[in-house]
Amino acid sequence: MADFEHAYQGGTAPSFAAMEPLDFSHYYSRTTVARQASSMKDFYKYFMIPGIGNLAGGLPNRKYFPYDTLEAQVAQPSRWVATPNDPNALAEKLAAASSVKKKKSDTSAPIHMTVPHGAKSSNPLTKIDLDTALQYGTAQGYPPLYSFLRQFTRDHLQPNIPYKGGAEIILTVGNTDGFSKTLECLSNPWNPDHDWIGEREGILVEAFSYPNALGAVRPRGLTVTPVAIDGEGLVADGPGGMEDVLANWDTSLGKRPHLLYTVTIGQNPTSGVLSLQRRKELYAVCSKYNVIIIEDEPYWYLQFPSAATLEAMARGTTPPTPVAHTLGKSSGYPYLDSLVPSFLNVDTDGRVVRLDTFSKTVAPGCRVGWITAQPNIIERLLRITETSTQQPSGFVQSMLAELVMGPQVSLEEFKKKSRDDQASFSGWKMDGWVRWIEGLRGSYERRMQRMSTILDDGQFYVKQGTPNKAADSEWAVISKTQMYSFDWPRGGMFIWVKLHFETHPLFSAVPAQRLAHALWIFFTLKPYLVLVSPGAMFSPTDEIREAEGYKYFRLCFAAVEEPEIERCSNSFANAVQKFWTIKSVEDLDRIDGDADSYEAQPELMDLSSIMGC
Ligand code: PLP
Repeated sequence: MADFEHAYQGGTAPSFAAMEPLDFSHYYSRTTVARQASSMKDFYKYFMIPGIGNLAGGLPNRKYFPYDTLEAQVAQPSRWVATPNDPNALAEKLAAASSVKKKKSDTSAPIHMTVPHGAKSSNPLTKIDLDTALQYGTAQGYPPLYSFLRQFTRDHLQPNIPYKGGAEIILTVGNTDGFSKTLECLSNPWNPDHDWIGEREGILVEAFSYPNALGAVRPRGLTVTPVAIDGEGLVADGPGGMEDVLANWDTSLGKRPHLLYTVTIGQNPTSGVLSLQRRKELYAVCSKYNVIIIEDEPYWYLQFPSAATLEAMARGTTPPTPVAHTLGKSSGYPYLDSLVPSFLNVDTDGRVVRLDTFSKTVAPGCRVGWITAQPNIIERLLRITETSTQQPSGFVQSMLAELVMGPQVSLEEFKKKSRDDQASFSGWKMDGWVRWIEGLRGSYERRMQRMSTILDDGQFYVKQGTPNKAADSEWAVISKTQMYSFDWPRGGMFIWVKLHFETHPLFSAVPAQRLAHALWIFFTLKPYLVLVSPGAMFSPTDEIREAEGYKYFRLCFAAVEEPEIERCSNSFANAVQKFWTIKSVEDLDRIDGDADSYEAQPELMDLSSIMGC
């Protein structure tokens, strides 16, 4: 693993006396154990020798790359106004601070950025150009971007990793790829036709979980076991909690699970944000049963300090007392310090594999992310990467590197430049990168506030009646029926709405699942025209799908444009109101019939595949 040290620029190892991470090699899959370092990749270090005539590598000639430069107009890091980190900040202040209207200052103007064909630098960690980025490279990732992210991770994002030497990173093609490689590394596929049940491995997941992750696990034949969740996320103790599931494991199903897959911030779909205290409790259980924690965190940066306070204000309840979650060393940025720390920061054993991605902070089409874990696990992931993706696309890596690091010119070169050139793009740097994600948090927080406010107002079906039919009656009886409920999301991009079908007039006439299905169709019809994700999609087991899944819908406030949030939220609330006035089963049949007319509308033909039906 000494390999990593040569590529490391910046970043300080923790200074306190720390223990080596534990050895988890007994969990490596058979193929992972058998992997050898790629002899091809081993050659790359020799390519760097100045003046070497390289007849060894099967590399295409860089002059024949058809791109002379990559150029882009890019945002300034302060384009979006950030929201306060303080949960006690007043609502008005929040609304004002998070306004997405562009200020009449030049912070919203784009700036021009160029990745040159060939840069002069001989240092691979600072040389950002197409000659290197579009060539074959090392599996850790493009050296300049790798070194930036390593420094970001070790010094700022995860400054309190307790084990000796701290964590290492490897770049991925996003978290989907990161998870797939982690599974490949740490689990053996199991086939019921060929393999003994005693060899079947397993994974624990949240009681509602991200479908794509489940889709990666299931074909490997692992047992998928849900763990109970509450508003925060995974529960450590009590019925269905981590301890309960692991202590009472039924070995006739296979081995006790040694993996946990969890999304701890802005959980998809429930939006939970797992507190530091809960992390410590869960970590203790994972240590006791030797479980590896795979923490998938695309929404990490979207933690909303205003949510609990605004929810309490909207509902006339007492705002909760904010809980401090600092762990020691500061990240150097008040915004990052204000976020709940990752499991990595309580990871004394080295049992946490954390997945980060640019998908939600830059763009999903980037297909770049990184894994953070103890060095031995990263080394095995490196071996898997060498013979699979090799590394993310050089186009994207160089664009990202240029964006955050800027042109890497020497002081002499810089002095030679004209004044205009000197004033041009110099890269976001670490401060700009942190400011960018802080601004994104602000923008999404405001969307969350809008949607939550509208949905809050529409939760009840209010009926006014007079107790006696006398026209001159001076008083009326108001009855309030709760049709749905939800928590204001503390993080992420979703509102997880629970429908109270037990209050619907047809509840005793038809199965609740039928009501849920009809309501989902009803949303998509005119005049409502909103598409939401049914909770069934996120159910890890058939039992949860049948018993619980139908009660929930997931609404994403991130993708639609600002005015659409208002329309869609009102449409959702209005559709539910109207649906609660339906009193005959024939009307439900008619809604189902309306869904059949989708067949005639080509643009809706794909709906059933989105729904997984
Ligand atoms: N993990 C979770 C929990 C997600 O919600 C998503 C995207 O929605 C992903 C992973 C996909 O991440 P990536 O685009 O980096 O593969």
